[in-house]
Amino acid sequence: MRRLGIHSFCWTGGATQDDIEKAMEASAGCGFKLIELAYLRPEKFDLDRLARRAQSLDLDIAVTMGLPAASDVSSEDPDAVRRGEALLASAVTAVRDVGGSKLGGILYSAHMKYAAMPTDRGRQNSVEAIARTADIAQAAGIDLVLEIVNRFETNLLNTTAQGLDFIAATGSDHVRLHLDTFHMNIEEANPAAAIRLAGDRLGYFHIGESNRGYLGDGTINFDLIFDALLDIGYDRDITFESFSSAVVDEGLSIACAIWRDTWTENLPLARHAKAYIDIRREEAARRRATVSRA
Ligand code: MN
Repeated sequence: MRRLGIHSFCWTGGATQDDIEKAMEASAGCGFKLIELAYLRPEKFDLDRLARRAQSLDLDIAVTMGLPAASDVSSEDPDAVRRGEALLASAVTAVRDVGGSKLGGILYSAHMKYAAMPTDRGRQNSVEAIARTADIAQAAGIDLVLEIVNRFETNLLNTTAQGLDFIAATGSDHVRLHLDTFHMNIEEANPAAAIRLAGDRLGYFHIGESNRGYLGDGTINFDLIFDALLDIGYDRDITFESFSSAVVDEGLSIACAIWRDTWTENLPLARHAKAYIDIRREEAARRRATVSRA
């Protein structure tokens, strides 16, 4: 692992510049080295100032987003695809301007529950849009990672295997997978095997519990997850993600169906997540060392 991060929605919906700066301070204060932000519209936020604040806190920034339905690059409507591609290009620019390292999330479709299967034409539109966005991201020095999410949040990429096929179709070696334990727990027959299948195509990783609350309160077997990450020599960033109705963002809270509070106080949640992930990673490393000594 390179850096351990935390999603800003553990702290704030991020409506104001001050909210985001406070979230940065709280993240760094808990020992996180990265904060994940939702796409910040450049006209609403001072990206330079956020970049300087992050740098002074020794905090890297990841930006994640899902496309709105009207800007769905997996649509058959060329206008929607054009709008989506423009949105992705402007997001890459914003990540660069805020001093971030990567753009991730549901970049290849709208973030919503679809009422129909994806179409061949729509998938091809998405492949082409992501391929062109990858070129822009590469030129800007920004990693581009596609988050594989569950069936209620996209109809296009629900499994690692689908994600790898999609990336191969783009023909770009700059596109990687963004996997998330919450989503894998719903869609993958074997989440650890899915991590091993992703191998060196894994570019970013979300740690979330099955109920999106406190790590350890749900049903995910994190031992198997950390063993798999060690096996593939995963050396990129890992970010803790948790949502509660205690923190509300109109767009994301509704798209993710956050209807109740899995926690009400964020500081104990964040501290617990940091300790939990550190200990589980240490345990995995010790298991591996014990085996190799035999
Ligand atoms: Mn996620």
